[in-house]
Amino acid sequence: MVSYDDLSVRPIINACGTVTRLGGAPLRQEALEAYEQASREAVPIEELQTAVSQQLASWIGCEAGIVTSGAAAALTLGAAAILAGSDPAKMECLPHTENIPCDFIVSRDHRSGYDHAVRASGARLKEVGLNEVISGAGVRRTEVWEYEAAIDENTAGILYVYTGQSAPALEEVVALGKQYNLPILVDAAGELPPPSNLKKLVQSGAKLIAFSGGKAIGGPQASGLLLGQKQLVGSALLQMLDMDDHPQLWKPTLLDAEQFKGMPRHGIGRGFKVSKESIMALMTALDSFLHEDNTAKMAQFAATLSDLQNALAEASIDSQLVWTNPQSLPKLHVAAPNAFEVCQSLRDGTPRIFVGHSLLDQDLLVINAIAIRSHQLEDLATALKSALKS
Ligand SMILES: *Cc1c(COP(=O)(O)O)cnc(C)c1O
Repeated sequence: MVSYDDLSVRPIINACGTVTRLGGAPLRQEALEAYEQASREAVPIEELQTAVSQQLASWIGCEAGIVTSGAAAALTLGAAAILAGSDPAKMECLPHTENIPCDFIVSRDHRSGYDHAVRASGARLKEVGLNEVISGAGVRRTEVWEYEAAIDENTAGILYVYTGQSAPALEEVVALGKQYNLPILVDAAGELPPPSNLKKLVQSGAKLIAFSGGKAIGGPQASGLLLGQKQLVGSALLQMLDMDDHPQLWKPTLLDAEQFKGMPRHGIGRGFKVSKESIMALMTALDSFLHEDNTAKMAQFAATLSDLQNALAEASIDSQLVWTNPQSLPKLHVAAPNAFEVCQSLRDGTPRIFVGHSLLDQDLLVINAIAIRSHQLEDLATALKSALKS
């Protein structure tokens, strides 16, 4: 077996959270076992994804769902499904969209580096609205009439990035989508916990929703979910599957073959293929995530952070536990004069430690317990004390 040591890569203490750059969340033990078990036999992937879709429907209440290689892949596939529908000729031409309505309307303040995944399908983003709160110029943010005013014959759908603070409210955008028969594609990649957000977003009426499997669900790092309307999820699946077979033997399992003018070739998502092992590992992780006591788990993280807070207080280091909702992840904000330097020295130290870096400009380190292993806590406290006293 090749170890990290053999490759001279030094593992880190991840106190930052489930960020992809640092390898995401710890993979659940039962998911690892499911991965191993899935590897022992061969199954047709389309059949497996169709069965997954039924299981997801029963757990979450979505019409359909598939496992993808991440939320970003789910966004590309979701956009491709909206662009091409069940037309194999349109599937074939993506990401070229000269002859297809391809605009996705998006609020300016929903834009981020992750929307490259939507654009990768061939979709074009059409920005609307203003965030006058952030610009310091007022109290208003993007409003629904601004989406409506942007709709024209080239509009394919609406991209909505969901957080608890997103504006305008998702329900209002969904209502507009219904009125104009435009699908809403929602990026909710990191909006777990709480697990209830899965059902909540499915019930919102948005046509497609993307979640990450490698974040709080605790599935494989490179896994995700695309949930939503069966017709669109089925199109997304076809654009990800390997399609090398004879048309006369082709029997799609999620959608009916009759609705296709012909058998699609490899689609734009062929490069996002997801292994049977990843599919089974994510489904196993999701089963645990949906059925565990989330409030107790969050309280456990808060207790861990509060122990760390006490240890830091002994060295006269100030910190604050920030925990706004018992269903969501608590964070510890640690006061760090020269936070950028401290952050760098922690990354370069022994052991190497990566802390949350979102508030460095306010001289705060952010500690998130979700990816810290219990045996690492003592080393973490010691390293923080030593980095912060000098
Ligand atoms: C993490 C994240 C993604 C990407 O998720 P992956 O599963 O890593 O592909 C997309 N959008 C947002 C808002 C995210 O936080």
